[in-house]
Amino acid sequence: MATVPVAETTKNTFIDAGYISGVLECAKGATDAEIRRILDKAERFEGASHTEIAALLMTEKPEHIARIFDIAGKIKRHIYGNRIVLFAPLYVSDYCVNRCAYCSYNCGHDFPRRKLTMDEVREETKLLEQMGHKRIALEAGEHGAECPIEYILECIGAIYGMKFKNGEIRRINVNIAATTTENYRKLNAVGIGTYILFQETYHQPTYEQVHLAGPKRNFDYHLTAFDRAHEAGIGDVGGGVLFGLADPRFEVLALMIHNEHLDERFHSGFHTISVPRLCAASGMSLADFPHLVDDATFERVVAIIRLAVPFTGMILSTRESHEMRGKLLKLGISQISAGSSTEVGGYAKRARNEAANPQFYVNDERDALDIISELMGDGYIPSFCTACYRSGRTGDRFMSLAKSGQIKNVCLPNALMTLTEYAMDYGGEAFRAKAFAAIGQNLPGIANERMRTKAAENIEQIKRGAHDFYV
Ligand code: SF4
Ligand code: SF4
Repeated sequence: MATVPVAETTKNTFIDAGYISGVLECAKGATDAEIRRILDKAERFEGASHTEIAALLMTEKPEHIARIFDIAGKIKRHIYGNRIVLFAPLYVSDYCVNRCAYCSYNCGHDFPRRKLTMDEVREETKLLEQMGHKRIALEAGEHGAECPIEYILECIGAIYGMKFKNGEIRRINVNIAATTTENYRKLNAVGIGTYILFQETYHQPTYEQVHLAGPKRNFDYHLTAFDRAHEAGIGDVGGGVLFGLADPRFEVLALMIHNEHLDERFHSGFHTISVPRLCAASGMSLADFPHLVDDATFERVVAIIRLAVPFTGMILSTRESHEMRGKLLKLGISQISAGSSTEVGGYAKRARNEAANPQFYVNDERDALDIISELMGDGYIPSFCTACYRSGRTGDRFMSLAKSGQIKNVCLPNALMTLTEYAMDYGGEAFRAKAFAAIGQNLPGIANERMRTKAAENIEQIKRGAHDFYV
């Protein structure tokens, strides 16, 4: 049978630096009335176009900024309730042919590189599962010879193939270099969750300045990766910017234009947006980066993204400190990593008490149980949910549910059921008592009566040892 030819988009048609700078310049003239209109719209959970976002990015008036924070908090509570989804990264290979100035894995750095054997992949998976994780982000550098797509597929097969007494890794999101439509098809065929790729910076001159060598230096090819992923049938893609490389206002606006492009072309914008901020790594100095983003600006960036795309998940990693994570959770973050190691084989090294040599230094080093306990203490429901992916709610199906505001009707029951599962499998007596009290308090918050009754029944079954309920 003849193979059906697939589109292979490689040319940028949607990010225009001159246009973005022009929109930002023009937005300086937005009147108070115009900004109030944009904020009223955001408060009705209707999002904001990129031109409206530009006005919010440019305003310096304290009353507007205070309202941006206030609305971001309201959106967060209304759309996501108090559930926070948890995940952890799994680094499988640090071989890399690229020379990214901000990354310790860049090919100019001399250190003993490695990739995990399949036994080691299984060992790391076991350690992640022992922390209670059900959702991971698989991470690898770019290296055609040492880390070809077949190796990544093998890792995914090894991870999905492992079953434990308490369950298994149920969703593997994949963060690997921009690749071909054909390779995205292969990833799609093995059932990945979200394909994640950070643009790092949308500002092409900066992009070329910090990507000194290697295939990643090709701005257009990197930028169009999500077009190819969609062309290959991957419905959920997760974008992000490495804040600290270029002007954050430029980056947020470009991110929103990228989101609009995907939405127009594939009826599905970003499934998630990550907000990593440049942090120290071995072999680089933060002093070389003139656009570092301070805490106050960063909080504003997170809040404005929350206003612009109220239904898009926002992810924060352990790059941020404990204190900063607490603040950003209130402004829009819906998913965080916990107990992370950012090193190949890092979980096994940690178990052996060996010194770490990570891709970047994490600022929140608490273990997963501490983070989960604290989330509960702050009134959140830690969630290990992977239900959407497993019930086929992906791509435009997911987006239509999210945009209709209905997603919270499944998020809360799933959060309560997976927290029950976690408490039974990993919590001590005190933790269980705390978790069950929180679950009891939150059950009445499930608006749909049939769903509430079902969740309550499932929770009782989980307490008796059953596993893996989801809606
Ligand atoms: Fe390689 Fe990724 Fe690090 Fe760049 S950011 S050097 S592509 S691992
Ligand atoms: Fe995420 Fe869907 Fe689970 Fe909600 S129900 S936490 S959107 S997987």
